[in-house]
Amino acid sequence: MGNVLVVAELQAGVVRKVTLDTIAFARQAVDVIGGQVHVLVLGDGVDAQAAEIAAGHGADVVHAGNGAAFANYIAENFTPAVVQAAEAVDAEIVCAPSSMFGKDLMPCVAAKLGAGMVSDATEVFDDGGVRFKRPLWSGNVITTLEVTTPRKVATVRTTEFEAISGYADASVQAFTADVGARDDAEFVSFDQVKSDRPELTDAAVVIAGGRGLGSGENFDMLMTLADQLGGAVGASRAAVDSGYAPNDWQIGQTGKVVAPNLYIAVAISGAIQHLAGMKGSKTIVAINKDGDAPIFEVADYGLVADAFTAVPELTEKLKSLGIGS
Ligand SMILES: Cc1cc2nc3c(=O)[nH]c(=O)nc-3n(C[C@H](O)[C@H](O)[C@H](O)COP(=O)(O)OP(=O)(O)OC[C@H]3O[C@@H](n4cnc5c(N)ncnc54)[C@H](O)[C@@H]3O)c2cc1C
Repeated sequence: MGNVLVVAELQAGVVRKVTLDTIAFARQAVDVIGGQVHVLVLGDGVDAQAAEIAAGHGADVVHAGNGAAFANYIAENFTPAVVQAAEAVDAEIVCAPSSMFGKDLMPCVAAKLGAGMVSDATEVFDDGGVRFKRPLWSGNVITTLEVTTPRKVATVRTTEFEAISGYADASVQAFTADVGARDDAEFVSFDQVKSDRPELTDAAVVIAGGRGLGSGENFDMLMTLADQLGGAVGASRAAVDSGYAPNDWQIGQTGKVVAPNLYIAVAISGAIQHLAGMKGSKTIVAINKDGDAPIFEVADYGLVADAFTAVPELTEKLKSLGIGS
């Protein structure tokens, strides 16, 4: 069969970086199964986004599925469109980022296609059959799965893949999906936390705070540092549970998985469940007043210091050196 279909994720009409990372996974997949990388972009007026995705990121064909039914994401409308696209391009693997979007949509797609599914795939390879790797138990175990159905559905751990640039441009085609008229589900509203900072999982720099900060107000100094570096702010679960930071800032096993170029952990002890969400970061900096904190075992640079002194000093130093904004 061959061919891989990537379902693009947009956020408020913007192509998310995780979509491009998923296309990099798809390229690895076609090296194994053959065929082409197809990308399906659904929305109401997504020609510009389809052209953006087609511009050298590793896709062969981008399908622009425009329609009022796709103006806002709901699985009930997206699922039939993805199923029809998978059948139209004869996709052996159908995949999406392992984000809230992908985690919501892809099980529905797998059910409708009668396909086996892999969550959080980090690698696809041929070992006498098409096999996938995925992490378990906070990343302490890597399991190998074989999906034996003709079509296979996957969500992709995008932190393991780097968006491609400079690849030959893809062709863009219109895609018409028939989702029928529905009266069982409709989009009502999407309450998004508005922020000028980058999305946590897309950011090149993440400043994360832990319970050691002691209050929500004390996260302000992390925001100042993040703004200086054009980064996002995250938190440990203990900080979220203590009410210092919102839920969608949580990084770790039960939060978001991030792999920025620079991760600065401030007053975070480095519990295994936190490391599961950030240990793939390219450079890890830890600031903690306890020199024995486990975070220092994964840190590239460690500073044993009081965060309330070190963070403002670091921000001032960056400003005086003209680093960041
Ligand atoms: C099933 C399960 C899932 C979980 N999922 C997650 C998850 O997704 N993400 C996650 O983060 N955790 C998760 N946890 C919780 C995890 O085990 C830890 O409890 C949590 O990560 C600890 O957060 P913390 O490091 O902020 O707090 P603490 O462990 O309390 O550490 C606070 C740190 O701050 C330092 N500190 C204190 N004051 C200062 C100061 N002034 N300056 C500098 N340093 C200071 C201390 O030395 C200490 O190292 C999970 C746990 C379970 C059981």
